[in-house]
Amino acid sequence: MAVPPTTAAASPGRRLDRDQILARAELRAVADSLLGPAARQGRQLRWPCPHPEHPAPASDRSGQPTLKITGPQTWKCQAEGCDAWGSAIDLVMHTQGRSFREALRILDEHAGAFRTRQPRPTSQGGRVQRLDLARLKARVDLVELADRLLGPGKGRGRGRGWPCPHPQHPAQTGRTPPLKIKRGSDGLQRWKCFGCGARGDAIDLVELTLQRDTGEAIRYLRDLVGDRAVAPPPRRPVPPAPRRAKPSPVLGGYVDQCQKLLWSDTGAVGRDYLMKRRGLSAQILRANRVGYDPGP
Ligand SMILES: [Zn+2]
Ligand SMILES: [Zn+2]
Repeated sequence: MAVPPTTAAASPGRRLDRDQILARAELRAVADSLLGPAARQGRQLRWPCPHPEHPAPASDRSGQPTLKITGPQTWKCQAEGCDAWGSAIDLVMHTQGRSFREALRILDEHAGAFRTRQPRPTSQGGRVQRLDLARLKARVDLVELADRLLGPGKGRGRGRGWPCPHPQHPAQTGRTPPLKIKRGSDGLQRWKCFGCGARGDAIDLVELTLQRDTGEAIRYLRDLVGDRAVAPPPRRPVPPAPRRAKPSPVLGGYVDQCQKLLWSDTGAVGRDYLMKRRGLSAQILRANRVGYDPGP
């Protein structure tokens, strides 16, 4: 990729390091500054989605803005039909109409005041990411994914239900699992919890159950459907990923051991935390082989 001239070039010896800059920029502060102060929904903060192709209106059915922070450096738009997501860099690109390089420099140089230019339509990067996600989600069978992440569902067809993985969902008995899956008018499957109202797509389900951020959840789903072809082109050379080896038997033994410990008397503390504080059901914990390791 051709690197446009930036001030970085004018200050010799100084490179713009994406990871360093992202680690320094507090995503919430960047969002507040670029998108306006967050709207609160319970403990969740929401902002209006700045993606040029976000379908109108800017808020969901309950009138809430649709962009939320999903990881230390990741945001995602929850609106149906909009799969925009990204980092603080993408926020600067979308709102200020800047290139990737320029956005990096702006984040590096200005801690807060970014409102300098009117938005300019469409960054190619955003669009590619969005189309890719729709394709990826169309290839994921959400029913199979729910069975895998939440444990086998109860019931058949559209009545099939799963326990809700949302941390704020009240305690669940497992008799009538509240999470259901439906296909939307866009042909994509989505899940909804009829107990607490949590909802989302395959990516949200991975984020919630496996505690991943959006980028990691997307990688997880790509691995799952064996989809390497749709990965967006890397922005800069990326070192080859380490070859994935089979999990070692030692590791497997460790996982087994921790899992046993979680369900023993010793694991009561861990169990208490996961089930009462985090609201995860025994079924979810077992399906994901969650364990307890009190440390040395
Ligand atoms: Zn959006
Ligand atoms: Zn729920």
